[in-house]
Amino acid sequence: MTRVKTLQFTIALAVISAIGPVLAAEYLAYQQGLRIETEHVLRYVNDVLHRSDRTTFQLNESKGQIYAEFSGQDCSDQMIARMSSVALEKEFVEVIGHIDGNFMDCSSLGWHSPPIDLGPPDQTTRVGNSLRADLHFPLAPSVSLVSLDRDNFVAIANRSLSIDLSDEETGVRFATFTPTTGEIRTSNSEIEAQWMMRLGQEKQVSFITEGFIVGVGRSEDIWLTAAVAAIPLSVLHERVSEFTWLMVPIGLFTGLLLAAAVAFFARQHLSIGAEIKLALRRKEFYVVYQPIVRLHDKKIIGVEALLRWQRCDGTITMPDVFISEAENLGLITQITHQLIGLVEKDARHYFNDFPNFKIAINISAADLESEQTRPLIEDLADKIQGACTVEITERVLLDAQHSADRIEALRKGRTSVALDDFGTGYSSLSYLQTLQFDFLKIDKIFVDAINTQAATNHVVLHIIEMAKTLGLAIQAEGVETEEQARFLAQRNVEFAQGWLFGKPVRAGDFAEKFAGAIANFKE
Ligand code: C2E
Ligand code: CA
Ligand code: CA
Repeated sequence: MTRVKTLQFTIALAVISAIGPVLAAEYLAYQQGLRIETEHVLRYVNDVLHRSDRTTFQLNESKGQIYAEFSGQDCSDQMIARMSSVALEKEFVEVIGHIDGNFMDCSSLGWHSPPIDLGPPDQTTRVGNSLRADLHFPLAPSVSLVSLDRDNFVAIANRSLSIDLSDEETGVRFATFTPTTGEIRTSNSEIEAQWMMRLGQEKQVSFITEGFIVGVGRSEDIWLTAAVAAIPLSVLHERVSEFTWLMVPIGLFTGLLLAAAVAFFARQHLSIGAEIKLALRRKEFYVVYQPIVRLHDKKIIGVEALLRWQRCDGTITMPDVFISEAENLGLITQITHQLIGLVEKDARHYFNDFPNFKIAINISAADLESEQTRPLIEDLADKIQGACTVEITERVLLDAQHSADRIEALRKGRTSVALDDFGTGYSSLSYLQTLQFDFLKIDKIFVDAINTQAATNHVVLHIIEMAKTLGLAIQAEGVETEEQARFLAQRNVEFAQGWLFGKPVRAGDFAEKFAGAIANFKE
């Protein structure tokens, strides 16, 4: 990713980090408000149903109680007294009376002379009671009552009691209705017919429509009773704004914290780019060389050049840390150019005495593609006495375009090309079939597995076999023990490097440390 792209990406990420949690908080506030108001509206529905069921139940019960005591009898003071006390006991029952046809001649209110005409019943219920759904007494004509009668006894309730919820919020609408017909029995305000129809065969439903959160449910106990409740959306909006006030500051705080974290890491990331640039200018990179040996006689035939970064405070940063950063920030070719310059100088000073000495350098995808890097590599190969190798990992091949052409171009000159870290990529085999290499480097993880219980312990054999079939030379990496060296030598692996033969050192120390082991190619 280029620097500009990284910057754009970082800014976008910071903005998302800041805004995201706020939007999430608003969304959560809405969901929370909706959840609570939905629960609320369904609680109203259940309250209404409960009161309606209680009314029906108490009407039945009180009527039954009087019937049990006075069945077949005419009005008497004793009956009136008993009816008064039962009516008082039942919270939903207003009046209990004795009827003759449609005429009530006495009740819990006293004697009625002349008897009160209740009019014909509206319907007969499933269990044989007669029901009057909208009854009015001459005593209080504006009050709508409901009555249930059987066997000369009637019980009467106030119709609106079931929807008379004392703690209701302003503007909440309630109704009871008959679910089969959609006929409203009691309501405190206008109820849309389609709200009731939404119940269908369900036990209860809730939805938002036409400015209301609506809940509809049916009674489990009483046949043909259902209720609807509707809370105005303004109540939901109030609830949401309450939660918003609570959650948005938390979201804002989280957002700012996240944005700050993104900014912090971005600065660190960008600043490593600035640091690398400064390091290039100050020439803080230097090269160490690790010997490569011929396995059959353990003579050193060359080196791999490995970069180090010594910062001005003396600390040394390893390539694992800065190479990938440099690649991401588009700085790797500058580093490689500096590396080639350093290797050339070291070769001139320290390695030219060793004829045919091989020097290997590592290159990245950008180097393979760069029009400037290739001439520099060719130049290096010309200037050193021995041979020059470039090591390319499978990841490089994956990232670079036209890698086949580039590799061919390098090999046409005096440079050999090695496939590094072989076996750690995803499609090693396909590379081997399509690209031409001079040799393979078996990755340290497979060398580590030699003669162990690790699942990969036999992979090294397959790699060796495959390389032999393809006519490629092999160099094993990370050889640390004699046992590993012996194993590889017995299987005709040509070359190796690793701590067993030598750790990477500066060019100036190389001859002193390894002079005795360097192969004499003149032999
Ligand atoms: P690599 O090319 O696979 O290099 C081998 C790494 O293994 C080196 O680590 C080396 O010091 C280490 N090594 C060698 N023998 C042994 C051993 O016996 N035991 C253990 N534990 N380690 C061993 P280093 O120098 O830290 O380099 C790490 C990686 O950084 C290299 O892996 C290479 O991919 C990259 N790198 C190093 N220098 C350059 C450079 O100049 N340019 C580019 N593009 N990449 C470089
Ligand atoms: Ca390498
Ligand atoms: Ca390697």
